[in-house]
Amino acid sequence: MIPRRLLLPLLATLSLAAQAPTEAPRPVAERLEAEAFRTHGAYSDLAWLCDRIGHRLSGSPQLDQAITWAQGRLRAAGLANVHTEPVLVPHWVRGRESAQLLLPAPHRLNLLGLGGSVGTPAGGLTADVVVVGSFEEMEKLGGAVQGKIVLFDVPYQGYGRTVVYRHAGASRAAKYGAVAALVRSVGPVSLDTPHTGVMDYDPALPKIPTAAVTIEDATLMRRMQQRGERIRMQLELGAETLPDAPSANVVAELRGSEKPDEIVLISGHLDSWDVGQGAQDDGAGTVIAMEAMRLLQSLGLQPRRTVRLVLWTNEENGLRGGLAYREAHRAEFRKIVAALETDSGSERVKSFDLDLPKASAEARASALASLNTALGTTMAPFGVAFRLGGSGADVGPMVREGVPGIGMEHAATHYFDIHHTQADTFDKVDRDDLAFNAAALANFAYALAQSDLRFP
Ligand SMILES: [Zn+2]
Repeated sequence: MIPRRLLLPLLATLSLAAQAPTEAPRPVAERLEAEAFRTHGAYSDLAWLCDRIGHRLSGSPQLDQAITWAQGRLRAAGLANVHTEPVLVPHWVRGRESAQLLLPAPHRLNLLGLGGSVGTPAGGLTADVVVVGSFEEMEKLGGAVQGKIVLFDVPYQGYGRTVVYRHAGASRAAKYGAVAALVRSVGPVSLDTPHTGVMDYDPALPKIPTAAVTIEDATLMRRMQQRGERIRMQLELGAETLPDAPSANVVAELRGSEKPDEIVLISGHLDSWDVGQGAQDDGAGTVIAMEAMRLLQSLGLQPRRTVRLVLWTNEENGLRGGLAYREAHRAEFRKIVAALETDSGSERVKSFDLDLPKASAEARASALASLNTALGTTMAPFGVAFRLGGSGADVGPMVREGVPGIGMEHAATHYFDIHHTQADTFDKVDRDDLAFNAAALANFAYALAQSDLRFP
């Protein structure tokens, strides 16, 4: 059997040759997929974003470059209303980092400071390490962690469940007098890969430096403690928070032909952590959303309602892009049919999840049924399901105030292996997956913008 990705371009050529006036027009889904697999525009954009711009943390020159680059690409594609909407973003910088065990045996540790962490005193700090497996275990030790470095060695039980240790570990340990907090990286596997990510301080407690260690090093220290050995560590984190920096969300539109004031919003976030290339998180979401707009534009598919693209700034450590958008666009909320976000990597899309936190259970179920009725057939070629679920961090502020949210959810078989690590690089991304996802997103946005569907 000829693979579908080869068959489509072949069919495109044949149908062009055999075109007769009586022939039925090709379905939009098929045209979008053929064009996505012909151009592979999302893949070449991602290569540029990763290879030539690199990682893009808020406040970095690379994020500024990415904002300029994305606008240029969208203008070149002929999209309407390409502009930026300014936002001030946090400006945290990592600085120099190092950690080593002095006792019971010398080991150099591979770690990454957590976003928002304070630094250690100049020259670092040296203290004993206490390994715990949960907040409860640490609280039982109480004053015994005073003056020590607490390591939360918590095995991965899914991102949502385990990430609380990264968010809250520092303040929970500071409450008992710890001088620093380390967390086992939040991920299912490791090739000596520490995972960074944002953390939050409880303003009522002292701020202590905090970092993620690898699974290898967390389990090493756990074994040392189990043998009753004293673990002594020298830790240096050069992190600091500078004054807020100017940044921006990037916007572009395909104006609707009949109801231009009704908006189907699609989005991804342009910023990333300051390690790797931010290829999966969220370079992939950024480029498929850009490509979806370009596919519709280049095939002349002008929808009845407006399709608006937003590339968010500062998803990773502040959400200022999504918060500023909510404030600036509140008057427009009733006109936003849905706000979609893609931020779960580059693997193939599995579902579009409808997020209606303010609606009743009955209203949600009926909205899902309407979505299936209106768009089920159109989306069938992509094999994606419609479900109820979460939408996305950046659209979240709007969605919590009643704008219908949609999460474009991708298979994430390896997403959390490399999430927020040095390994989140372009080589892990499959070219055909990106083309497929861009076509699926374009088809979904177009079908919704063609319909009269409204959610509660
Ligand atoms: Zn993300």
